[in-house]
Order: sequence, then C-alpha cells, then structure tokens
Amino acid sequence: MYRIRQRSSTGKKIAIIGSGPAGLAAADQLNKAGHWVSVYERADRPGGLLTYGIPNMKLDKNDIVRRRLDVLEAEGITFVCNTEVGKDLPAEKLLNDYDSVIVCTGSTRPRDLPIEGRNLKGINFAMAFLTANTQAVLNGQPGDDYISAAGKDVVIIGGGDTGTDCVATSVRHGCKSINQLEIMPKPPEVRAANNPWPEWPKIYRLDYGQEEAKALFGEDPRGYVTTATKFEDDGTGHVAAVHTVEVQWERDENGRFTPVHLPGSEKRIPAQQVLLAMGFLGPESPLLDALGLEKTERSNIKADHEVFTTNRPGVFAAGDCRRGQSLIVWAINEGRGAARECDRYLMGTTELP
Ligand SMILES: Cc1cc2nc3c(=O)[nH]c(=O)nc-3n(C[C@H](O)[C@H](O)[C@H](O)COP(=O)(O)OP(=O)(O)OC[C@H]3O[C@@H](n4cnc5c(N)ncnc54)[C@H](O)[C@@H]3O)c2cc1C
Repeated sequence: MYRIRQRSSTGKKIAIIGSGPAGLAAADQLNKAGHWVSVYERADRPGGLLTYGIPNMKLDKNDIVRRRLDVLEAEGITFVCNTEVGKDLPAEKLLNDYDSVIVCTGSTRPRDLPIEGRNLKGINFAMAFLTANTQAVLNGQPGDDYISAAGKDVVIIGGGDTGTDCVATSVRHGCKSINQLEIMPKPPEVRAANNPWPEWPKIYRLDYGQEEAKALFGEDPRGYVTTATKFEDDGTGHVAAVHTVEVQWERDENGRFTPVHLPGSEKRIPAQQVLLAMGFLGPESPLLDALGLEKTERSNIKADHEVFTTNRPGVFAAGDCRRGQSLIVWAINEGRGAARECDRYLMGTTELP
C-alpha cells in the first residue's frame, strides 16, 4: 500500500486501541490534524464490529468497509492487527511510546445464561457464530472455529439486533428450524399512550431476519415473554433441546419489574444449535486495569461525553467501551469528539469539529 500523506506533521504520536467505527473516526480526524496515528487491533482484520459482527449481507465488507480502510491506510494511518494491547503488547509501552492514547475497545463481554446444561456442546455466544461466519465469507472457506447451523434446529436466545443477525445467518446456512426467545412482551401494533410522537415508535416490527425466517418457515420465529430454564443433553454431551417457560412481569418488593415464571407454560424446543444473544456487559476489564482506568457502575470506562477524558491524563475513551453497546453513528460521533479533545490536549487548541 503506497502512502499519499506527506503533509507537515506535528510530530505528535497517538495510539488508538480498537479499530471499530469509534477508533477509525478518531484516527481519521487526528491524521487530518497532522498527527502520526497507529491503530492497534487484536483481530486479524481492522473494522471492529463493522468487519466482524455485522454480517456481510447487512454491510458489505469489500465494497464498503475494506474500501474505506484502504483510504485511511493510504492517507497515512498505520494499522497493527493481531495485537491485543494488554496481552501481546504491554499497555505501559503504549503509554510510554505515544503522546496520547485513545481507548476504543467496544463493549465485548457477552451476557451469559448460567442455567442447567450451559456447558453442553452446541451452545455458543452469538458473536462466536457471527465472527466465524464472516471469517468464512472473507477467507472463502470455513476456519476451525466455524459454527454451522446447516440442517439444525436453531434456538436463539435474545430478541434484539444481534439475535436478528443470527436468525438471518442461520437461514443462509440452511437451518432446519428457528426459534428466537424474547423475555420482553410483544410490542403493540400501534404507539402506546406513553410513547407519543416524536419519540421513536416502540411498535411491533419484522426486522430483515424475522422477515426472511417467516418467508421460509411461515411465521415470525420470535416467542415473547419466554425464557429458557434448562438445556437438555442428548446423552453425548451435546445439546438436544431448550426447556422454556413463559413469564409475567411483576414488581418485586423493591418496586423493580421482575419476570415471574408462569406454571403450566413450560415447553421443550428441539435444538442442536443454541445461540446466546442477550446483550453485552461492557468492555473487558484486564486492559482497563492495566491502564489504571476508572469505571462506571455499569463497568464502562468513566469519561464524560463531549469530554472523553479518563482519570489518566492523555488517555481518552470513546464508543461502546465508554457509553455501552450502542450504534455505529454514536461510535463515529464519539470517535470524532475524542479526537477533538485529544488534539486540544496535545496542541493547546484545536480546529477539529
Ligand atoms: C451483531 C451486531 C450487529 C450490529 N448491527 C448494527 C447495525 O446494523 N447498525 C448499527 O448502527 N449498529 C449495529 N451494531 C452496534 C455497532 O456495531 C456498535 O455500536 C459499534 O461497532 C461500536 O463501535 P466501537 O468502535 O465502539 O467498538 P467495536 O466496533 O466493538 O470495535 C472495538 C474493537 O476493539 C478491539 N479490541 C478490543 N480490545 C482490544 C485490545 N485489548 N487490543 C486491541 N484491540 C482490541 C476489538 O477486537 C474490536 O475490533 C451491531 C452490533 C452487533 C454486536
């Protein structure tokens, strides 16, 4: 890759940890401001969830993501892949070698479901399934970690966007059936009285995955107010079925809404493949601890929006690792904001927006 960036440099060096949309947006801005920017990424390809997470049918990896990464690289940004900061490269080394560090490591700790049978084979986190699937698409062949849904009864636990991507990917693998469990009630067909315009309408929708599954199997795969109680062993240590129960949301003694199991609503759903897509619990702790960063009560990095400064001078945080699992537009907004504040910290003033 040849470089086209030859403008005068400020001489300042910045390390960005994590190459998702937050890290890329920060790198782009700081590079334009004349700093030397290196982006460290533990995966074999940069892009964060743009590359490994959001499936190819939703976001094309070559025509959109790779093309943009090539432009950033040609403009002078250095990408260092296969390098986990805090493991392959000591966090202290970055702090010593660079004038500033921006942490953009995402919200990568998945919520688990520690019920009976959780250790059975065939039960995987959604991201393991989606990542290995995209790797197979990009490499032209499945790797050792590939998880196939072909010919299987698939149960996806979690009715959010990640679950939807698992539904659509399972459809493409040629699964036998799909059930998606959602613990929350089915949204209303029209706005509820407490959800007036111009708020985002919280109404029932068929997202692309459910639409495809419905076209194939005849119905929306989602089962509402339903949770799993047990994974059944097929006798060889592999999952054979998911036992479920319907719930009713009631207030507990502290006034918090709690799901209460409804007796008589138990079901057994055959499953040779279970995918856990129940959200994320924040960034991974080891790197944050190695950098000596304070966390919020939700275990995200403590740094205010629009300021992005952590408790450690010269270390900034942006994206899902700061605000929790969110959206690409927010990650880009945060990456740009952190770049602006980083530039101000290094130069005393900034012209970045
Ligand atoms: C399955 C799925 C589908 C989604 N679909 C959409 C969608 O359609 N639209 C939308 O707007 N949002 C979507 N999102 C959310 C969106 O992808 C995220 O909000 C966004 O990518 C967050 O960006 P980020 O840069 O903060 O972190 P990420 O994109 O998570 O990137 C963080 C990067 O940091 C790397 N990293 C972590 N620790 C280290 C370390 N110690 N050293 C080096 N590298 C490290 C990770 O490998 C990763 O590449 C989806 C999320 C998921 C999980």
